[in-house]
Amino acid sequence: MAEHESLEFGKADFVLLDNVSMEEFMANLKLRFEKGKIYTYIGEVVVSVNPYRAMNIYGRDTVEQYKGRELYERPPHLFAIADAAYKAMKRRNKDTCIVISGESGAGKTEASKYIMQYIAAITNPNQRAEVERVKNMLLKSNCVLEAFGNAKTNRNDNSSRFGKYMDINFDFKGDPIGGHISNYLLEKSRVIFQQEGERSFHSFYQVNSCINDGADFKAVADAMKVIGFTGDEIQTAYKILATILHLGNMTFGVDGDVTLIETPKLVSVIRELLSTKEENVEKALLYRTVATGRDVIEKQHTEQEASYGRDALAKAMYERLFCWIVGRINDIIEVKNYDARIHGKNTVIGVLDIYGFEIFQNNSFEQFCINYCNEKLQQLFIQLVLKQEQEEYQREGIPWKHIDYFNNQIIVDLVEQQHKGIISVLDEACMNVGKVTDEVFLQGLNGKLAKHAHYTSRKVGNINCNSRLMDQTPDMLWLQLQYSVVGFIDKNKDTLFQDFKRLLYNSANPVLKGMWPEGKLSITEVTKRPLTAATLFKNSMISLVENLASKEPYYVRCIKPNDVKSPLLFEQERCRHQVEYLGLLENVRVRRAGFAYRQTYPRFLQRYKMISEFTWPNHDLPSDKDAVKRLLQGCGFDHDVAYGKTKVFIRTPRTLFSLEEQRAEM
Ligand code: ATP
Ligand code: MG
Repeated sequence: MAEHESLEFGKADFVLLDNVSMEEFMANLKLRFEKGKIYTYIGEVVVSVNPYRAMNIYGRDTVEQYKGRELYERPPHLFAIADAAYKAMKRRNKDTCIVISGESGAGKTEASKYIMQYIAAITNPNQRAEVERVKNMLLKSNCVLEAFGNAKTNRNDNSSRFGKYMDINFDFKGDPIGGHISNYLLEKSRVIFQQEGERSFHSFYQVNSCINDGADFKAVADAMKVIGFTGDEIQTAYKILATILHLGNMTFGVDGDVTLIETPKLVSVIRELLSTKEENVEKALLYRTVATGRDVIEKQHTEQEASYGRDALAKAMYERLFCWIVGRINDIIEVKNYDARIHGKNTVIGVLDIYGFEIFQNNSFEQFCINYCNEKLQQLFIQLVLKQEQEEYQREGIPWKHIDYFNNQIIVDLVEQQHKGIISVLDEACMNVGKVTDEVFLQGLNGKLAKHAHYTSRKVGNINCNSRLMDQTPDMLWLQLQYSVVGFIDKNKDTLFQDFKRLLYNSANPVLKGMWPEGKLSITEVTKRPLTAATLFKNSMISLVENLASKEPYYVRCIKPNDVKSPLLFEQERCRHQVEYLGLLENVRVRRAGFAYRQTYPRFLQRYKMISEFTWPNHDLPSDKDAVKRLLQGCGFDHDVAYGKTKVFIRTPRTLFSLEEQRAEM
């Protein structure tokens, strides 16, 4: 726990609460927020409340305060966590990761940027040019990814519409030498549809250079140049954006049994933007090639199919562009020519900034995926926090007592298990020939999962109403959450007619062509059914969690204090809800079930040696450990303490208070 704060700011570590109750937790969180203390610890976890105002706590002077310090020596801060992760990486050669979670607008992306800034600020003391270049690129990549992956929503003016995990690689000196970005599930439906009051991705407004976004356009284009995108590449990116905008204005009609494009002028504009032939564009929009046995025929779309195809094309082009940008950034920032035999082990700090739980009025496929991701991360969190505690006790030779906690693996299994899980049932429904509807999917679920402890369903009369897909008991994280099955099949199949892929692959623009390699295949060569969206997402989540589990984790849990972006308002109910589903009380309990406080012997002495005659000003005992023992015995606290190999462990916070009080009296 952080010792360097007066109690008027509340407890700097929730572990120090007198009672672990929701009331006390909330009272402390509120008090600290109102006093401008936006960070509080739970042991080594940072709880952060979005201040919604500029805070003067990220400057060079603050960096200096935290640099190289132990977590508990300074008031709670992101920098302390970043430093802890950095130290573990540098001193112990550990790969570490910082997992940032919280709902939309809670401050995850800002936190991830402060963490990266901190790491950039404390590394490369020798100002090596190559390291400076890498740092600059890592920071600049944020700007580009935000332009293409963020949008204004009703919850957040700069909402990340994709999940992001970034590895930063370090050499043996602890200087950044490269990185790698993984992106997850871009919300591409935003390209064709936005809720009232929301916008599409920032990039569209930048390319249109409307009043507010014009300057951003230049900043993004400059950032792309600095990172190493060529002029042609940047041009192509903007041509794709323009194409998508034009597709948005394209309409279809029918004349007898012929489907036609009502906006033919747009076809020639798009042709030009895509460097292809006009008739190719027209054909791809109105027909699809199908193989029936040995014959290949061209089948005309209905008006509805043509509109569907147009939207699918717009979404797919944007998603592909985004993934391509991430891929290009990776090409450039990835560590090359690193020889571990010469340079020593290359270690990593990962930073995960991923969407938090989403519970809306109408929860669809996207919320289903996002919430599944959070269930998995929550599962990992509980496991790792416990595991970390356990390992520390083992390392220090202190007996470990088992702690019970809710294992939400059962929920994760409900979603991802082979053959029986919701995703498998969904995939099965998508493979049905003939009648593939959301209703069929729902029936499949009801048939397979009705008996599952965490699944209940009711018959749907009208498929448009909110059908209850899952209904969890209140001790689960999903609380009372319902999903509507409407749209699941479509979003999961995520069909893009092969004709579009061929259209783009046959572009005379090599950059565009390069984005669509699968367009090379002719219709008879396409045999494999592509993986569904849910399965792709599931696979990416499984590997993400495996990756995180292999690293030493640090956590930042972000809380959004109100819905109106106010720096003054702490909405009690809103915050309590977040504390609940982030499992923060459980976290405090886990932390307290063991030892609330631990410190290395020398550091402990440094702080408390003045309270004992045996240790002040110096001790003559054989070791610091013996001196600490003597000190604590003298104070009568021996019963509440365990002595590890390098650290002293104190069970109850009260003991520590007492020590602090005695120290203050000196
Ligand atoms: P999403 O899931 O929608 O991407 P998020 O959790 O990433 O949301 P941010 O974009 O980081 O949320 O934060 C939303 C806004 O809150 C920021 O644009 C900024 O105005 C404000 N904010 C967040 N953190 C801070 C901070 N530490 N200091 C000042 N303002 C902040
Ligand atoms: Mg964000």
